[in-house]
Amino acid sequence: MNPYLIDAHSHLQFPQYEADREEVIKRMFDKNIWTICAGSNSISSEWGIALAERFEKGIYATVGIHPSHSTETDEPLEVDGGYDKFDYEKMLALASRKKVVGIGEFGFEFFDDKKTLDDQRILFDLHLDLANEVKKPVVIHCRNGYEETLDALYANREKLLPEAGIMHFYSGDKEYARKFLDLGFSFTFGGALTLPKKADGADFAEALAYLPQDRILFETDAPYVAPKKYRGQRNEPAFVEEVLLKASEVLQVPADVLAKSSVENTLRVFNLI
Ligand SMILES: [Zn+2]
Repeated sequence: MNPYLIDAHSHLQFPQYEADREEVIKRMFDKNIWTICAGSNSISSEWGIALAERFEKGIYATVGIHPSHSTETDEPLEVDGGYDKFDYEKMLALASRKKVVGIGEFGFEFFDDKKTLDDQRILFDLHLDLANEVKKPVVIHCRNGYEETLDALYANREKLLPEAGIMHFYSGDKEYARKFLDLGFSFTFGGALTLPKKADGADFAEALAYLPQDRILFETDAPYVAPKKYRGQRNEPAFVEEVLLKASEVLQVPADVLAKSSVENTLRVFNLI
């Protein structure tokens, strides 16, 4: 039987859950919610896999290096926010594991002035090589870099699957959404949807309303960006229900209908079960 909802992008393996992870997992499964634990460097990718492998179903992992968590030097690596090199053989071994359902999160991050465009592009292309080799969908992080992301994707188009993956935490406009749709992408929306419109004008609801329903997935990005009801608290996968309720209001689609379609979309994009 399908779950009620799938949180398509969380970091349940992060140290923020060290003290009470089992309770967080119980709250999630009690609501019949599943999650995909996104890696942000090699260590958090490994931890995500270890967590996913404890369960036959319901928790999955992706493997990747977030652009702000990468470096070409040997700086110390911490699970959340440390720096990492892309070691292709090591990443390939992780990416080949059965519970790994995608490659990411990776992409462009232009709030972080430590990384040049060239560095980020090299890292981006390596992830696409990896995704192409293991034939798994990609999880793209994009903050202030939609042009750069599109350039990199067009240049590597033949490496994308027909179900290319997700634009995680999508905050672009309708025009960009159309281009990512053309490339085979789906889109995840999270707690930010429930918050007031951002000062920079990013309007999550506008892009959401534009997208076909079979391309809409939900996420939490937990422990970050808790939805309005839990503002100021640590986020967790069970809170993805708040995102569903807000999306249902924006789209004027009954919550149960939208829950069902978002689950089917997530199962399809990530080939779960
Ligand atoms: Zn994330």
